[in-house]
Order: sequence, then C-alpha cells, then structure tokens
Amino acid sequence: MKRLTVIGGGPGGYTAAFAAARAGMEVTLVEAAHLGGTCLNSGCIPTKTLKASAEALETARRAAEFGLAGTCDLKADMPAIVARKRRVSDTLRGGLEKTCAKLKVRVVTGRGQVISASLVRVTRDDGSVEEIAGDRVIIATGSSTLNLPSLPVDHTHILTSDDALELDHVPSSIIIVGGGVIGTERAFIYRAFGSRVTVVEGQTRILPVPGVDRDMSALIQREMKKAGIAVELCRTVNATETRDGAVVAHLGPSPFLPEDAIPAAARKEGTLEAEAGEDITVGRVPNTDGLGLAEAGIATDRRGYIAVNDELETGVPGVYAIGDILGPARVMLAHMAVAEAFVAVKNCLGGHETAKYDVVPSGIFASPEVADVGLTEEQAREKGFDVAVSTFQFRELGKAQAMGHLPGVFKLVADRASGKLLGAHLAGAHATDLIAETALALQMGASVQDIAHTIHAHPTLAEGVFEAAHMF
Ligand code: FAD
Repeated sequence: MKRLTVIGGGPGGYTAAFAAARAGMEVTLVEAAHLGGTCLNSGCIPTKTLKASAEALETARRAAEFGLAGTCDLKADMPAIVARKRRVSDTLRGGLEKTCAKLKVRVVTGRGQVISASLVRVTRDDGSVEEIAGDRVIIATGSSTLNLPSLPVDHTHILTSDDALELDHVPSSIIIVGGGVIGTERAFIYRAFGSRVTVVEGQTRILPVPGVDRDMSALIQREMKKAGIAVELCRTVNATETRDGAVVAHLGPSPFLPEDAIPAAARKEGTLEAEAGEDITVGRVPNTDGLGLAEAGIATDRRGYIAVNDELETGVPGVYAIGDILGPARVMLAHMAVAEAFVAVKNCLGGHETAKYDVVPSGIFASPEVADVGLTEEQAREKGFDVAVSTFQFRELGKAQAMGHLPGVFKLVADRASGKLLGAHLAGAHATDLIAETALALQMGASVQDIAHTIHAHPTLAEGVFEAAHMF
C-alpha cells in the first residue's frame, strides 16, 4: 500500500495527495486542466473574489454614513476586477504547486483513466500516453455545469456560471436562472456592480436548499427586494432567444411544483428581456468522461455519479472516490471533498473510517451572508424532536451597529428538554465565519447551556450566538 494515484486535482484530490504523501505514500496526482479544480478556478474562490470587489464598492458608496466627506464616483471596472480574480487564483494555485514539490507529489497533466486499482492510464493533450502503476487509486474528478436546451449557451448573451466570472463589462441587465446558492450569490454581486437583476426560481422560495432554514430564505428575499433585485418564484424559463443583442426569456409556471402550489400570477406565460442571461443553478453533471468506469467495473448511480460504500471505496477493491463525483446524495461542497479525502487516505492505508455527513457547515455569500449547520427547525420537528428555537437579531449587537451591518439573525434549534444543540442558522455580516463555533458545538454534542456558559469577547459578532443561546 505504498503507491497512490489520485485522479483530479481539486480540493478533494490535492488534499488526498498531500495527506497520503505526509503519511509516507508515493503519490502521483493526475490533473486534466488546472490544480485547484472547480473550487479554485471557477467556483468558491473566484466568486468570493468578485464578492469582495462588490462589498468594497458598496462600502465606498456608504462613505458619508461613516462620516467620510468628499465625492466618490466609483464604479465596477470589470477587466480590473477579473484580473484581480485571476491573480488570487494564480497565487493559490502557485501555493498548491509548491506544496506538491515539497511533498514530492508527482503531478501529471492529462486525462486519467482507471484500468484497475494498480493501473491508471493518462492521455495528454498531445495524444501521448503514460501508464502509472500503483497500489491504490482515488478518483476526485468533480463535476461540471449542466446546460439545458432551453438555455442555449452562446457565451456572449447566454452565459454559464463560468462565463459570468469573466465578463469584460457590467451588463445593464441580467436574468439569473436559478435562485439557489450560486444564483443568489451572483444576484447580489451583479446588483452591486450596477446591473438590473432578475432571478427566476422554480421553487416557492429563494435558496430552496434542504439545509437552509425557511426564515433565512425569507430574510434574503427581503434583502433582495431592498437591493432592487427582482425575483420570479414558482416560474421557469421555457425558452430563450437572442434578439438585437438582447436575451428574451420566455417564462412559464414551474414544472417542479403541483399546480395548486403556484400562485395565479406565476401561472401566466410572460417574457423578460435583458442584456445577458446567466444559466446557473440548473445543476451539475459528474466528470466521468473517459474515466473508463464501466470497463473497470466501477458502478455509478442513475445520474452517473460514482457509487461508494461508507468507507468511500467503489465496488472495485482499492479504488476510492471522493468529492463532487459522489453527487448530491452526499454533499457537493469543497470542505466535504476535503473531509472525504482524509477518510479515503486513511482507508487506502488499511483503515476502516467512515465518512460522516451530519455536521457539515455551509456558507452562502449573499448580502448579508447566510450560514447553517445541522438541522433546520422543520427537519428537527420531522425527526420527532420536541424543538425549542431561539433567535437574536443582528442589529441588537454593538459590533453590528458600529460596523453599520444591521440585517441578520442568529437562530439556534435545540432539543427542548436537554438543550442539546440540533442546528444553527445565521444570516448577517461574516455569518460564514461565525458558523464555525456552532459546528464545533454540534460536533461535540454541546447544549445551548454550554454556549451560554462560554464567555464571548465584547464587542464581537460572535456575541450573537451567545445571546441566542441565552434566550433559551
Ligand atoms: P473539483 O473541484 O471539480 O475538481 C475536479 C478536478 O478533476 C478538476 O480540476 C478537473 O479538471 C479534474 N478532472 C476531471 N476529470 C479528470 C480526468 N479524467 N483526469 C484528470 N483530471 C480530471 N463549495 C464550497 O464549499 N463553498 C463555496 O463557496 C462554493 N462556491 C461555489 C461556487 C461556484 C460557482 C461553483 C460552481 C461551485 C462552488 N462550490 C463551493 C462547490 C465546490 O467548488 C465543489 O464542491 C468542489 O470544487 C468539489 O471538489 P472536487 O475536488 O470534488 O472536484
């Protein structure tokens, strides 16, 4: 069990490569495109870099509120923003390359194909082939955007989420198809940059994600309204066309909902016109092309994602899979891919660890940010808990007032009798950082009393968690 080949250099793959090398394995990391994967090149990091520009612009526009005199006519300079985004990704990718060199992880550029647990074939762009012998294989090839026939991407007017990270100007108007995590994040970013934004969402709420508490969806929808972002709920885009340099989207009622769940206004057909249409949250597809799964005897589910057991091993002994390639039945987030990488490496070394999915925090970089961990109020009730909920408003915190960031709420969900924390749902500035405390509390089986007995520094935003715990 000395030699490991990892296919895919995203957060799952590079974490597995580094962990295995640190544990003494001889590691080859096969990457078809760029180290860092979706997360570093077109996902988490680029989006958050654009978001940082949007926030800087919003803060500058509020200069007078902070007692700063003078005029300030700032606007989004997209080529400069995109250049900064590329620099950030390049810097981080450079760091990964250095770590590979330091840990003696051999990086092979090309497309990997699994022949067996002891052989991976790599085909380079120039057609040359290298065969890598080993003892174990970890597949971490991730996922890509799914394009729909109703949104014929032309990369100019009808864009994928990747295209929208590379815009050379701010579109005067943009239709975002999908009000899930990525669509919501983009809506606030482009609104801050000056676009007129409309979000079309097929479900009854913005952020219709199981882990997102309904109160957080309602809060974000209110903030969208305040920001001037139009929202079309319970609707879908049936077709799009480009006419005279504009996108015309033909809307109809959502096919995902029963008819009686769709309000009358949303049942009507209609059209929306904008300079650009962004096809965002219609889903992801697994990167399995050319991996040779069927030939190697590796099973997939009906959507093509790789099937693994609790130890993340495929049906072929010695071949493991981690990250987005496991699909939405598990959790498609960068930090989950990282967590799974550690489990898979331990098991490659003879361990029997199982991947755990009950305490997985998640962050949404909207304005304000939203973050959650554990059960929503609704999920906790469905599971039969006698649920107690406590909330504390962001605006009641001294630090929030000082910072001028007022919208937001801290919501804790607990078992009434024992006070055991079941879930935490935060919205507000830095919510994505603040969730870490409650994730640790959940992981350790802590109660709201434990949180309330922990002294929190003043004045900080973390006091919101403390205050919500005290409300019990
Ligand atoms: P990936 O990061 O997709 O990496 C897979 C790698 O495998 C790629 O580099 C690919 O080139 C390579 N590859 C594919 N096939 C082969 C092959 N045959 N041979 C060799 N190499 C191959 N998650 C978060 O946790 N937080 C966020 O804020 C967040 N924001 C996101 C924003 C956007 C716009 C998107 C699209 C995603 C976001 N995600 C976020 C999700 C996150 O990016 C993924 O969950 C994460 O990247 C999955 O990691 P992975 O290692 O499984 O796969």
